[in-house]
Amino acid sequence: MTKEIQNKLDAADKAFHEWKTVSFGDRKKLFKKLARLLEKNSSKLAEIITKEMGKPISQSVAEIEKCALMTRYYANAENVLKPEKVETEFRISEIHYAPKGVILGVMPWNFPFWQVLRFAVPTILAGNTVVVKHASICFGSGNAIEKLFLEAGFPNAVFQNLEVGHEVVKEILEDARVKAVSLTGSEGAGAEVAATAGRNIKKSLLELGGSDAFIVLDDADLEAAAEGGAKARLANCGQACNAGKRFIIQKKIEKNFMPLFINEYRKYVPADPMDPETDIAGMARPDLADELEKQYNTALESGAEIILPLERISDTAFMPGLIKVKPGNPVLKEELFGPLGMVMIAKNDKDALQLANDIPFGLANSVWTADRKRQKFFIENLESGTVSVNRETSSDPRLPFGGAKSSGYGVELSLLALREFVTVKTVVGE
Ligand code: NDP
Repeated sequence: MTKEIQNKLDAADKAFHEWKTVSFGDRKKLFKKLARLLEKNSSKLAEIITKEMGKPISQSVAEIEKCALMTRYYANAENVLKPEKVETEFRISEIHYAPKGVILGVMPWNFPFWQVLRFAVPTILAGNTVVVKHASICFGSGNAIEKLFLEAGFPNAVFQNLEVGHEVVKEILEDARVKAVSLTGSEGAGAEVAATAGRNIKKSLLELGGSDAFIVLDDADLEAAAEGGAKARLANCGQACNAGKRFIIQKKIEKNFMPLFINEYRKYVPADPMDPETDIAGMARPDLADELEKQYNTALESGAEIILPLERISDTAFMPGLIKVKPGNPVLKEELFGPLGMVMIAKNDKDALQLANDIPFGLANSVWTADRKRQKFFIENLESGTVSVNRETSSDPRLPFGGAKSSGYGVELSLLALREFVTVKTVVGE
């Protein structure tokens, strides 16, 4: 670890001992200022995102606006970390929530502001300080976020960006000054970081990939499902953990639904990411596009049929693809992180459920049906952290977000996130 990183960890540790003494109310005031700065600078900040990872500028602006909304939600949050009295025979009988200290965030490039702030805002509001190892192509976003915290008036070193490659993460996490880690990214990175955390008896929170189902049943509003489905797959050029990736369509409506879906899908034609009218551009890195192309070819070799070909038109951009896949195709066990969707046909509700659950992941499934009983069946039986009904999945600051199975563990967003990086302390006696 370089001297510079050593100094930053020292600063984060020192800052923690001051920051934890600041009242919840005073911390919230600073988050109000941070929300205002995000809103005021949304165009400038959005440009950093688009230049670094290539998403369309309108989606970058929307990302910053959502960060502001989330920050404001926490700036007005109820203090769920106040000591709680518990009725027992003892005079003192309380639960306290004590912040842990310096928390490490290992963050990805797909939502360079949202992922970082979604982790950092509740973690810092709970009284911790944060150091972030951002994706190597997003150091500009990481530095911009650090500057915003300082401009909002947060004490020095409450939030710091570390410009390091992933090979240094292990050493940082093993450092005694770092108390826990939150990672958003691939399964491989998650497993490695969680193993280091485990060996050092430190808490980890993992938000990993998904291959979520988008289930359309025979009584659904097909136009709305077709439009929502194309958006669910192709927003952010398909690079979202909670994107709809497997479209499970009931056989009875296949003939009616597919033309509508294909029509919506075809509206996404890659264009200049800086043009405000663009809704799809290239992927974040050429190697990620290579990987998607490889997965596409393997899926075809294993029997998938082409509905719309995945056509590479530049080092990072594709004309979006759609393939029909049958159970047993190895691609179903993988995450397709780009503009390639899979269609599967289900005989009935039970079959649709079985197909939806038969994968290693479980992040955010979506089901389309007008019937309350059928909704209840899927809500109760889909194995995922989120179930959306008659809408494509998107996270909401007021509601928890997290995964089941290989999609990870731990909760982000909502008031529950305030309790992720605290020690629950029992205080009891006379
Ligand atoms: P990674 O998981 O490799 O990157 C995410 C973050 O983890 C980056 O900051 C990266 O740093 C870091 N990282 C990578 N490997 C390690 C490691 N061994 N130990 C500690 N930190 C590590 O994602 P990729 O960019 O390689 O994308 C690959 C795939 O991951 C995608 O195709 C997608 O399937 C999935 N992914 C899922 C995301 C989600 O939102 N759930 C987000 C991004 C990717 P560095 O950039 O320096 O390598």
